[in-house]
Amino acid sequence: MESKVTVDGLTFVPYITRDEIRRQVSRVAEELRTDLKGRSPLFLCVLNGAFMFAADLIREVGINDSTINFVRYKSYEGLSTTGKVKEIMGLTEDIEGRDLVIIEDIVDTGLTASMMVADLKKRNPRSIRFVTLLHKPESSKTGFVPDYVAFSIPPKFIIGYGLDLDGKVRNLKDIYVIKEEE
Ligand code: 5GP
Repeated sequence: MESKVTVDGLTFVPYITRDEIRRQVSRVAEELRTDLKGRSPLFLCVLNGAFMFAADLIREVGINDSTINFVRYKSYEGLSTTGKVKEIMGLTEDIEGRDLVIIEDIVDTGLTASMMVADLKKRNPRSIRFVTLLHKPESSKTGFVPDYVAFSIPPKFIIGYGLDLDGKVRNLKDIYVIKEEE
């Protein structure tokens, strides 16, 4: 793990290691495997941020009958939410009667998540489960509560393991948090 990461003039310090990530991914995968027993779920990876988490999680869950698809929404510019959620790439697949498992990188205000769930519900899936790598409960503006959470964190800006700063640093194997002013 790097002792610090500098991007666009901002400094980030280590926060969650790849080993801790692996452990929590296994725990969430185990819960999903139990809850989805006998089902053929459709995993919906929310791009871009969740691609790394989704790849690890779906392999750990290990249901050969599952299918995978991708959706894309955007609300952030730089360090803060724009307050508006844009659907950039929607889902063309028929989801009626399917057991959906939405895989997100982070739930912050909950705006993206609640909009997405409301939108998908209209298309009559059999069930919807919402999984997130990170949850910032104190930032909630919607009361949205994810069904599965790998890590619950305070409202600080983080990067790595798929999460970006203006498109960069998604490649990092560990998670880093923005360094507080000293
Ligand atoms: P929400 O709609 O819940 O406010 O925001 C969800 C989206 O905001 C996430 O999918 C993610 O793209 C972005 N986001 C929220 N908090 C962070 C953060 O700490 N770091 C990064 N890189 N993105 C974040």
